[in-house]
Amino acid sequence: MEQLQNYIAGIWQKSETADYLDVINPATNDVLAEVPLSLADDLDRAVTAAAEAFTSWRRIPATQRIQYLFKLKTLLEDNRDTLAKTITEECGKTLKESQGELQRAIENVEVACGIPTLMQGVNSEDIARGIDEMMIRQPLGVVGVIAPFNFPAMIPFWFFPYAIACGNTCIIKPSEKVPQTMQQITALIHQTGLPAGVVNLVHGSKTVVDALLDHRTVKAISFVGSSPVARYIYSRAAKAGKRVQCQGGAKNPVVILPDADLEMTTRIVADSAFGCAGQRCLAASLAITVGSVKADFVDAIAQAAQQRIVGNGLDEGVQMGAVINQGSCDRIQSLIQTGIDEGGKLLVDGRNPNVSGYAQGHFVRPTLLQDIPAEGEIAATEIFGPVLGLLHADTLDDAITLVNQSRWGNMACLFTNSGAAARKFRYEADAGNIGINIGVAAPMAFFPFSGWKESFYGDLHGQSQHAVEFFTQTKVVVERWPKEWSRQF
Ligand code: NAD
Repeated sequence: MEQLQNYIAGIWQKSETADYLDVINPATNDVLAEVPLSLADDLDRAVTAAAEAFTSWRRIPATQRIQYLFKLKTLLEDNRDTLAKTITEECGKTLKESQGELQRAIENVEVACGIPTLMQGVNSEDIARGIDEMMIRQPLGVVGVIAPFNFPAMIPFWFFPYAIACGNTCIIKPSEKVPQTMQQITALIHQTGLPAGVVNLVHGSKTVVDALLDHRTVKAISFVGSSPVARYIYSRAAKAGKRVQCQGGAKNPVVILPDADLEMTTRIVADSAFGCAGQRCLAASLAITVGSVKADFVDAIAQAAQQRIVGNGLDEGVQMGAVINQGSCDRIQSLIQTGIDEGGKLLVDGRNPNVSGYAQGHFVRPTLLQDIPAEGEIAATEIFGPVLGLLHADTLDDAITLVNQSRWGNMACLFTNSGAAARKFRYEADAGNIGINIGVAAPMAFFPFSGWKESFYGDLHGQSQHAVEFFTQTKVVVERWPKEWSRQF
């Protein structure tokens, strides 16, 4: 069985730890590899390597730094199929979903290649007679990226291409549940010839994360994961004096008005709720029907849920894969029971499915819970599985009130044919990512990923200009060159 290694100072290194976790294929329960739960000493070595590399890396012109990213883009494209297979094997999603995830990763590399323009400063001539002022952007130093399990390739790319293009060096800590994808991507990074220590990969869980948060040399932390951990990371890293951005969990509502195109809306909402087995921070998890559309939408979505083909994401024709592990399966099924206990009607029951050929796999089929109480636990809890709660409101105003009473604010969507309704929703809904006739309002790489409320702790988000601002510090220079000093010219 392969034991994964850390990548520190450009060399693959065995962790000091004796503690390894099995990496599981969620569709088969086969063990794919063993991942080390690295120690604080492993992390310290990586930070030392990154700090040493920073001194020379920041002096390399941005136009040359991005050449490594151009090479990485080509290598990612050339290895797309192998990487997609690895994502599906360790994460459970379908091959098509894995391909889509990789595309999003590549797009972030493309945007980060624009750093020579994106990190330009500003200047003002003659702020006083003969005095000029400029603001330049400089890198921070060593930065840390901590990623969740559900997008093993894409999420580190919301941060690290921007971080290194801006002249920082970094430590990436992938999820211990899906460590192989970044392991393979790091091998591609090595092939680009990137100087040793600029990107380091350290596997593990809480021990290495805490060591990263507390390390005096680390200047900034980018985190994506569940909200309780996001909150913990945000406060612990801030206490250690670091710049922090933490993207957390979600409970995303979609509102359906009577004038929406029913066929298109149903297809899009089903894809949003059940795509990636509901394990997306932008998955629809509450559908709020307004007025007369209720009966028709409920019938249509029930049909879509029942028809979804569930199985091993590697198999042809499969539309929804497994959830990440047995613990997740148990948690999702127990939350479905909570929904029933609270008075919800189990319209489609996806618990304990029989997935032919994969008796050991961790599957939950699409599930619909109707008329759940708006104030109840299930309407407020992130399930992170293929479960859609159905609520009803008499008017768009009532639906927006339901949307805004949530403590989450990652995404809110509206399905309608009315421009006026769309504008009202866009204006009034309290969420950082808004979809109008869109089910997964995932920002492209050239926009920030804008979670709000308990879905985000910090101010600057991942991707695009926000990432550039996060990974640089501004320096203001005020200059005077008296005339008499330049007489010789
Ligand atoms: P998680 O919070 O369990 O783990 C995320 C990372 O934190 C992992 O690398 C893990 O090793 C580390 N970690 C976990 N517990 C820790 C602890 N107590 N102390 C220190 N480090 C710890 O999240 P997950 O289950 O891997 O991912 C799913 C969650 O991520 C969902 O809540 C989902 O909504 C969220 N997510 C959010 C976004 C977003 O952009 N807002 C995107 C993807 C996923």
